[in-house]
Amino acid sequence: MDALFASVLHQDAITLDKAPVSLLLNAGLSVETDVTANDAVDGIGLFRTEIPFMMRDRFPSEQEQVICYRRVMAGFVGKPVCMRTLDVGGDKQLPYFPIVEENPFLGWRGIRLTLDHPEIFLVQLKAMLRASQGLDNLSIMLPMVTNLDEVRVARRMLDRAWREVSAETAQQKGDIRYPCLGVMIEVPSLLYLLPELAPLVDFWSVGTNDLTQYLLAVDRNNGRVASIYDAFHPAILRALQQIFDVAERYGKPVSVCGELAGDPIGVLVLMAMGYRRFSMNNSNILRIKYIVRQSRCDELQKLLQDLLSQQQVGAIQEAFSRYLEERG
Ligand code: PEP
Ligand code: MG
Repeated sequence: MDALFASVLHQDAITLDKAPVSLLLNAGLSVETDVTANDAVDGIGLFRTEIPFMMRDRFPSEQEQVICYRRVMAGFVGKPVCMRTLDVGGDKQLPYFPIVEENPFLGWRGIRLTLDHPEIFLVQLKAMLRASQGLDNLSIMLPMVTNLDEVRVARRMLDRAWREVSAETAQQKGDIRYPCLGVMIEVPSLLYLLPELAPLVDFWSVGTNDLTQYLLAVDRNNGRVASIYDAFHPAILRALQQIFDVAERYGKPVSVCGELAGDPIGVLVLMAMGYRRFSMNNSNILRIKYIVRQSRCDELQKLLQDLLSQQQVGAIQEAFSRYLEERG
């Protein structure tokens, strides 16, 4: 089976009915390992910057961050690298910045924390910009966005970081391009704000891990309620379809970077909805590429349409896993 997947390493991710699909990497843990996958992927769809922060005993300096980010971007020259700003809080703790809360997943997380600490946020934005000098492949993504003001303030901070870094580096070789700015769609409030969000950002990416947790009110790490944590719940599927449709309507590039994108059945359901851009862990890339190459979008779309009208629990998973089996 592994040999089967390995056979697609240098092949394009394209369906049998010729729809090109972008497969990107979720990275952050081991840059070295991730970089070896460079050939098989179209770029990095999610670089979790909190991971290098978590592996230290103090906040990394701007220069230390530049070195880390530059290594990632330089490993993917000519391919997009999407860096997510610090997403600590919830279950992700920094040993040197403890956050004690009764309800951490509903607390001080992601953009909420960094907007309250502009000195942390600005240093990180500047480090990303400096690291991108002359490479031209950086985009920046904001985690845990709940309202539009967070995006507006973050954009102003990015403007400031870019002005300052550009002024300092004006005499050096290689411009610093103003990066694309996007958000994670993972807090359900954004589902109702997408048309207003569209003019504020360049792209969005769906974080199905948190979106599932928050839409269903189920802790993503609590084994007791694991059976209710269902990314194929009809409400989640409806939300995912809506997110894609609004992105299309407003001409916004959209991807999925939660675990569902790296799940064999999940990716088929997402393709049926129209998604063509998926970011996942290194270990899932070849399997998903193989599956993409065995599928037809027109068939997937029809399968989903027929099932959505039936509204039967589990029917979608069953039908798509049959589709998968039939294609080896
Ligand atoms: C998500 O929530 O789906 C996501 C990709 O972010 P993380 O898993 O890092 O919270
Ligand atoms: Mg998340």
